Amino acid sequence: MGERIIVLGGGVIGLASALELNNRGHQVTVLEKSKCGGQASGAAAGMLAPFSEIGEDPDDFFQLCLASLRLYPTWQKEVKRLSNRGFEYINSGSLHAVYHEADLLALETRQSWQKDWGTEANILTAGELKQKEPELSDNIIAAMHYPEESHVFAPDYVRALEEACRNQGVTICDELEHVSVLEWRGDIKLQSMDGRIFTSEKLVICSGAWAQELEETFSLRIPVYPIRGQICAYDNLQGRVNHIVYTSQGYLVPKGNGTIVNGASEDIAGFATDVTEKGILRLTNWNYQIFPFLKEMKPFHRWAGLRPATQDGYPLIGSLEEAPHVIMATGHYRNGILLSPVTAVSVANIVDGLAEHVPLNLFKPERFS
Ligand SMILES: Cc1cc2nc3c(=O)[nH]c(=O)nc-3n(C[C@H](O)[C@H](O)[C@H](O)COP(=O)(O)OP(=O)(O)OC[C@H]3O[C@@H](n4cnc5c(N)ncnc54)[C@H](O)[C@@H]3O)c2cc1C
Repeated sequence: MGERIIVLGGGVIGLASALELNNRGHQVTVLEKSKCGGQASGAAAGMLAPFSEIGEDPDDFFQLCLASLRLYPTWQKEVKRLSNRGFEYINSGSLHAVYHEADLLALETRQSWQKDWGTEANILTAGELKQKEPELSDNIIAAMHYPEESHVFAPDYVRALEEACRNQGVTICDELEHVSVLEWRGDIKLQSMDGRIFTSEKLVICSGAWAQELEETFSLRIPVYPIRGQICAYDNLQGRVNHIVYTSQGYLVPKGNGTIVNGASEDIAGFATDVTEKGILRLTNWNYQIFPFLKEMKPFHRWAGLRPATQDGYPLIGSLEEAPHVIMATGHYRNGILLSPVTAVSVANIVDGLAEHVPLNLFKPERFS
């Protein structure tokens, strides 16, 4: 018989962890203060792009991201099977585009170490790029092509995770308004705003940008901050863009329904999730430098979400030294959709006392204290 486990937070990290724990025979309850997937996870562009995101060096964070990308083909199939829901997962490949000769050197540096990690990454000249993306701006002089990078339609993926959890017997209590941790040193006891008490043997904290609220409870520094991402989408562009296109100023992701997602700002605005004219203009004033045809177009949809950023840019994944039955999985900043499978597997391995899937030393929750 498995253990009783509470997962605090029903975003992509909480739901993926709940599903994996349930699959391993545990009795899992997810406590969510609003709607599952209603925060950062439902707002994401859905890119699965470790090579584009991490250009500096192959540290443990890069390895975590890469391991997760490589879990995705099997993981997404399993989520679809368990949920009876489809969602888009497209292996489009990506182009990391540059505009200046000087940036070519940076691409070559990336390529030199990234090649060692099994990618077919290739630097394409302007002429070669035209064959892959005929409408790309003439100002782009080269791009790194990463064939392995992919994307999901994030809102549908998170909905499927929730459905899979429900179908498999995870208890999901949502719209709880607020949940506080009353006891955690021995048995776990939490209370929701309506006075309901929830108890368990283990607790997994997946509360995204709100994790810092628990600093006092655990007497621990948890420097997780909300970084607002404003993002927009164009419609009716079926077939005009084939790859994820990354630049230093923003990215474009072509979805299967003919929309192109254009992201994203990085603003400090507390917990505000409104969209500002300035935030969207920063994206739209640039993106014609990627595809000139976008100059004449207006986005049909704009939205924003709060990325859970940490002080050092790495997530917090691991159990508390003082209370090993309390596990943190938060602070996934720009890559929580990508990192959901590997985080779920890592959390479940910690709960089950199994060896780490990838090294987690860099992500220790106590590292800021
Ligand atoms: C515009 C934008 C674009 C992005 N694009 C990408 C991308 O292309 N690829 C990628 O990998 N990532 C992307 N991200 C990042 C990704 O969305 C996040 O890293 C990820 O969603 C974090 O998941 P989470 O479950 O930790 O957080 P959330 O999805 O925010 O979930 C946390 C949940 O916890 C709940 N909660 C908080 N406190 C409590 C409490 N006390 N009690 C109960 N519930 C609580 C919240 O209500 C929330 O539902 C993007 C983010 C944004 C905003």
